[in-house]
Amino acid sequence: MSLIVMKFGGSSVGDAERMKRVANRVVERQREGNQCVVVVSAMGDTTDDLIDLSKQICSVTPPAREMDMLLTTGEQVSVALLSMAIQSLGQPALSFTGWQAGMYTDEVHGKARITDIQPERILNAVNQGNVVIVAGFQGMTADGEITTLGRGGSDTTAVALAAAIQADVCEIFTDVDGVYSTDPRVVKCARKLPEITYDEMLELANLGAAVLHPRAVEYAKNYNVPLVVRSSFNHNAGTNVKEEAAMEQGIVVRGIASDKNVARISILGIEEKPGQLAKVFTALAKEQIDVDIIVQSGVMNGQADFSFTVSLTDKDRALEVIQSIRSEVGFREVSSQENLVKVSIVGAGMVSTPGVAAKMFEVISALGLSINMVSTSEIKTSCVIENSRLNEVIQALHTAYGLDTDQTAFVGGPQDRR
Ligand code: ASP
Ligand code: MG
Repeated sequence: MSLIVMKFGGSSVGDAERMKRVANRVVERQREGNQCVVVVSAMGDTTDDLIDLSKQICSVTPPAREMDMLLTTGEQVSVALLSMAIQSLGQPALSFTGWQAGMYTDEVHGKARITDIQPERILNAVNQGNVVIVAGFQGMTADGEITTLGRGGSDTTAVALAAAIQADVCEIFTDVDGVYSTDPRVVKCARKLPEITYDEMLELANLGAAVLHPRAVEYAKNYNVPLVVRSSFNHNAGTNVKEEAAMEQGIVVRGIASDKNVARISILGIEEKPGQLAKVFTALAKEQIDVDIIVQSGVMNGQADFSFTVSLTDKDRALEVIQSIRSEVGFREVSSQENLVKVSIVGAGMVSTPGVAAKMFEVISALGLSINMVSTSEIKTSCVIENSRLNEVIQALHTAYGLDTDQTAFVGGPQDRR
């Protein structure tokens, strides 16, 4: 008998029909002799709709505490309905909010981190033969305040819960068949990956692959929780996310991701003296602005240029911050660019294979595009380029790294994507 955490995302429980389908799937699993703990997201676009509603009420940013109070209702609707659906199939079930399930977090409303899980109550319910259903994305502070874990946070609830109850596996059910080598909507012959390492998945998730929430992957890696990503609409084998994953002979790149949420900021003619970079980035950090790629060019006449990327949403604030420290730092001008995308190749095999990045640069330049910025880690290379021909670039890279596959290999695959 296995203890399984099953997580269903918003589109998997988008309406009553889908909710019933999920109930069937869970009951099937339980009746195979497993103990199931289910984590669900809010139905369909509920979270977005609630956010819209708050905007109609508030002209300024709504109070963070009340926002969490509002958004957590979405998941509460889901757990109650799923429990009803499961019980109507004759299977005992009990639903729990995050706080009832013992999910404790810090006090950061809107993006709280889990600090502790006290799973005794749900484990008792499981041991009494119930399917347990837990609301994703929510928790409670030590003072009893309701919090949420940040958009997409139900994945994190599921993985953290799986770690806390030492589940045998955490299955993430979604609207695609698994993790693909790249977005199958962009590249028709993208391949479904049978397995991928935590590190590769973490890079892909951080680099823009939306299939798993990065924090959930981090959690899975830290607690060594075996993860499976699979479709809630069919029984196809999914993708296993684990510590070590086999690489097909001759293939070093596992996946290609892209992120359009990129803006470049360049500071030109900055006076060259120690501590300048520190001043700029400390000022940005104080405003909670995340900086990604940083490139500094050579020094000429005692002046240097450097560029960095931030998310599009942070661009204007970043420019303001830089203007505000202009007299302190001393520079000639600051500029920014928006029509960019960061394309990344990821693969654990890159560490030991020379020429992988060189090939990426060749492929991009063969399309007549110039590369604005580059960043690398042991298992990834990212290039910032103009965004106009992104799909062509991804397709060309996919082919160049030998990732194209015969489309018939996964009939029943991406057509399920809504
Ligand atoms: N319902 C929340 C959201 O849409 C959490 C989740 O779906 O994981 O972000
Ligand atoms: Mg959602």
